[in-house]
Amino acid sequence: MKMEKLDKRIPQRTCVGCRESRDKSTFIRLALQDGRVVCDVDCKINGRGAYICPNTDCLNMALKKRSIGRAFKTGVHIDEDLLKREIESIEGKIRSGSFHGFHSH
Ligand SMILES: [Zn+2]
Repeated sequence: MKMEKLDKRIPQRTCVGCRESRDKSTFIRLALQDGRVVCDVDCKINGRGAYICPNTDCLNMALKKRSIGRAFKTGVHIDEDLLKREIESIEGKIRSGSFHGFHSH
């Protein structure tokens, strides 16, 4: 017996902030680099990842709920100011139309 999911071709991810599920390409991937959580805009960092909407509201929600740390493992270093700057910059690029999407391959 074969079970096929309708949305098989579009991987869905859940935002660590608002918990909304959407197409993975609409999220910023967060990944671990040297034990620190960074925005993996080019999707070039291997390993565990978390996904967040490209806006600072979701980042603030995720920080408040400590869901970024949970998405990885206990003891990761979360540089809140660095993440805020990175997401603000991506948010600004999207707004001004100079953001060309995430490289997902
Ligand atoms: Zn969100």
